[in-house]
Amino acid sequence: MTVTEEIKGRLDLVDIVSESVSLRRSGRNYAGFCPFHQNTRTPSFFVFPETQTWRCFGACAEGGDLFSFVMKKEGWEFKEALKNMADRAGVTLEEAEPVNKERQKAHNKQAGLLQAATDYFHQLFLYAPQAEDARQYVARRSLHEETIEHFALGFALDSWDACRSHFNMQGYSDQELLAAGLLTENPDKGTKYDRFRNRLMIPIRDVDGRIVGFGARTLEKDGIPKYLNSPQTDLFDKSHLLYGLDSAKRAIREERQAVIVEGYMDVMQAWQAGFRNVVAQMGTALTEEQLRMLKRYTKQFILALDADAAGAKATLRSLQVARETLDREMEVKFDAHGLVHQEGRLQADIRVITMPAGKDPDNIIQENPEDWPKLVAQAKPVVAYVISVATADLDMSDAKAKTAVAQQVLPLIKDIQDPIERDHYWQLLARTLHIDERALRQIRLPEKPQRTVRREETAVPAKKQAGQPAHLGWATVPKKPRPTTGPIATDMRQADFLHQSVRMPQVILRVNQKLQESGQQQVTDDDFLLAEDRAIMRQMYHLIATSSVVTIDELWDSLEQTLQNRLKFLLTLPQSPETELERISDTLVLSVLDWRLAKVRQLLGEVKHLLHEAKIEGDTEALAIYNQQLRELPLAVLQLNKARDAMSATSRRRAEDALNGRY
Ligand SMILES: [Zn+2]
Repeated sequence: MTVTEEIKGRLDLVDIVSESVSLRRSGRNYAGFCPFHQNTRTPSFFVFPETQTWRCFGACAEGGDLFSFVMKKEGWEFKEALKNMADRAGVTLEEAEPVNKERQKAHNKQAGLLQAATDYFHQLFLYAPQAEDARQYVARRSLHEETIEHFALGFALDSWDACRSHFNMQGYSDQELLAAGLLTENPDKGTKYDRFRNRLMIPIRDVDGRIVGFGARTLEKDGIPKYLNSPQTDLFDKSHLLYGLDSAKRAIREERQAVIVEGYMDVMQAWQAGFRNVVAQMGTALTEEQLRMLKRYTKQFILALDADAAGAKATLRSLQVARETLDREMEVKFDAHGLVHQEGRLQADIRVITMPAGKDPDNIIQENPEDWPKLVAQAKPVVAYVISVATADLDMSDAKAKTAVAQQVLPLIKDIQDPIERDHYWQLLARTLHIDERALRQIRLPEKPQRTVRREETAVPAKKQAGQPAHLGWATVPKKPRPTTGPIATDMRQADFLHQSVRMPQVILRVNQKLQESGQQQVTDDDFLLAEDRAIMRQMYHLIATSSVVTIDELWDSLEQTLQNRLKFLLTLPQSPETELERISDTLVLSVLDWRLAKVRQLLGEVKHLLHEAKIEGDTEALAIYNQQLRELPLAVLQLNKARDAMSATSRRRAEDALNGRY
């Protein structure tokens, strides 16, 4: 996650906008008078809380995110906007550090290595005779070809040095293999050997889809450990990662709900069955960092826990489940107190479901996929869940047992921040225990458990270090092309565009010429989704205007830390196979037209939806604006399509000419 994304995750655009614009609700969204153009008649300015974006449907026809709003409103440069918003969100920005080219080079190489290792293991899985057990294991889990491809499953040979010599031959040193976690060193003897041997390899990606490490399952019957992970590095930090989030984030946003499971296999199985809003924690208790990451997409989290993990921790009673039957890396801690705190602090809605004894989501979805949504729908709020588990087999005639349950649950209730909710659970607990609420309130609690955080502490937003530069710099690119629609694809296309432009600045001018020839606007910073990308594009234009030759070093030196981190990532992207200016610019023009088309189409979809809401609400002002948009947007689509067709014809012709040696 980039720093700007982290900041956006912590602030609410609606709050920020309402400080200067008076907003009224319009369906699920907010409307007001646009602060950027003269208007007093119709409120044409909209804020969409779900996507955390804004748009003016009036004269200025602009839109964007939190950063573009404050930059426009306050007239700030990116740097000022970043500083102000970071302060406000409680995110610490790093001081710019002197450029360490050597280190940067090492990071880029490592990113390449992790991707190459993923490909290497994947090819072995698909074709090596020695991978038969791995293939059979996966077949037993009924994973299909498409799923295997999507998660890029791999196989590590049963050898102490196969991986090492393969990558040594490719020019990677042992030191680099160690740093990437592919080799292990025996500290006594100083010998180095392959870390992963005879294991099913599960590549782990960060939220942006970059490979950061591996989970590796043993293929031996009693192999220990069952799961072996990449070692902890600043890149691979399990408390900052959720397995599957890169491919689940869209569904999470659409379904407004994230289901958090315990194992890799659960995620794969769910994905295969079409339940795409599922991610896995990797053997750690859910951290605030993970929840903050998820909160960018939804406020409702559902924890799908194995029966014993939740039961034992919540009630201190053993549920007698054979845990060995479950395919788990390690036990996930259920920390009810922690969850209640996080829920209050993040204003989130955290719910819990448990699997039937001895089952995990993997089995359930494999056996009866239709049971899964039913289970998810039964999720209970954390405190209600703890009450129900704690009182499940309680003997209501045993007063001492009832007091013990009350003593266990009450601290949890007292920690709830919302007074109405707190009251609700007092009543619920009293009812469930068949005692008078006043009696319940008189129960003395034993010494306060250490876990309980004092109220003052919970009220202060947790300050946190901004993302480490190394994390952002170590990027890899998925082997398969991204899906061709939607925000992810656009994001990657724009990254690629910037990457090519940075390496070959003259390409920007050529692209702009071509765009103008086909009646389209030049590329501007507003074209880009990410605040970082917009700032880099602006800086590129600035440099092009002021110096005759723009070098990467020059750009680098003119950027501050946050943007340098982004640039580092951009430079790890694969270089275009094309070397010739005309062909590169053709491709980039197509790319610009594609992302503009995606944007207009998305907007069109949004407007249709808004129109529908406005009809229901009988909001005539909004209706007029949306109807106007419904007339204009299709025209834009038409023009973009025309330009796109013309451009693909040109670029095809050029490619054919090149093939025939005529160019
Ligand atoms: Zn406006």
